[in-house]
Amino acid sequence: MPVSKQSLIGLTMPQLRDAMALADVPEKQRRMRASQIWQWIYFRGSTSFDEMTNIARDLRQKLSEIFSLDRPEIVTEQISSDGTRKWLIRLRPDQHGRAEEIETVYIPEADRGTLCISSQVGCTLACTFCHTGTQKLVRNLTSEEIVSQVLIARDALKEWPHQMAMNPKAPASGRFITNVVLMGMGEPLYNFDNVKAATGIISDGNGISLSKRRMTLSTSGVVPEIVRAGEEMGLMLAISLHATTDKVRDLLIPLNKKYPISQVLDACRNYPGLCNAKRITFEYVMLKDLNDSVADAKRLVQLLKSIPAKVNLIPFNPWPGSPYECSDWGRIEKFADILNRAGYASPVRTPRGRDISAACGQLKSDSERLSGKQRRALEKSL
Ligand code: SAH
Ligand code: SF4
Repeated sequence: MPVSKQSLIGLTMPQLRDAMALADVPEKQRRMRASQIWQWIYFRGSTSFDEMTNIARDLRQKLSEIFSLDRPEIVTEQISSDGTRKWLIRLRPDQHGRAEEIETVYIPEADRGTLCISSQVGCTLACTFCHTGTQKLVRNLTSEEIVSQVLIARDALKEWPHQMAMNPKAPASGRFITNVVLMGMGEPLYNFDNVKAATGIISDGNGISLSKRRMTLSTSGVVPEIVRAGEEMGLMLAISLHATTDKVRDLLIPLNKKYPISQVLDACRNYPGLCNAKRITFEYVMLKDLNDSVADAKRLVQLLKSIPAKVNLIPFNPWPGSPYECSDWGRIEKFADILNRAGYASPVRTPRGRDISAACGQLKSDSERLSGKQRRALEKSL
């Protein structure tokens, strides 16, 4: 197998400075070179060292011999009738030669554009209502692979500042992607270091510069890491609550047996920086006859007392073979009504991109969906 060059994407600024040593950049110049390259990668979206005109040709040549700025490969791009886009992305092969695939979704709305990114290939947590949790292959994404999802989306949307300046359809904010949510495949708090490095890069003011207030980390409740994530990453927090009793939550989210509801909520109370303007989002997937009763809604109100919170009600998105059904619309409305009357803004999330299986919890790489036999046949035909 050809030895792949080291990618500069996903390195933190100190790591990028250190990498300059490999290209024999004198110590005194490393800081300057690293910030030039940073701007080319994250402000301009450069994919080649040739473009870096403020760097001498010899050094550009050397950099390109040692390092790469390649994006992972886009296998497919699907565009839903509602404008939602889903990219199936093939990662560079790992040391075992396996090239896994992940999915990234862009959801345009009137007042915002949300990019939903993945933090792992698959997920180890096996929540019973989630398609990603049924995927057998699981590994953490590197910081490069997490950041690359944003780069790929910006490329596809032609969203780099110099492109937006020429685009008559560019929104007033100058961005198509105004928000990033870690709600794709995987449990981000099981990949803490890489998620921290990647979100630090995405928010950096000399590059993509997306405010941390516009990035949301969603967790199924990895209690020991919640407060630490608040302190070290400082993103907005979303908790996948989905039930109001441990009995039901145990059934839906096996991790609840380790970290029950009371512990999750305690960690939420200690999340740094909470106030009315910075609330925790509680996600609640509506499952027919399981967690959608009036008693559940009332219990939810009690549980959230004393936490600056908003609730996101998510109609369950079925997938082939899923063991649950979505609650009836009337039930969902009644549930939302009880929350609203208790003072919680609780929008019901409209399912987006259903026609391309891009909705919450449906993400699972296409190649993994194939049986071994189908996959071999496909590989032969390529
Ligand atoms: N692992 C993290 C983030 C990824 S899942 C977490 O669990 O929070 C993102 C969101 O999609 C979570 O709230 C998850 O509970 C929800 N979800 C998973 N499967 C779903 C489905 N089939 N229908 C609706 N929402 C689902
Ligand atoms: Fe993993 Fe989140 Fe899916 Fe649970 S809901 S299996 S934690 S991705």
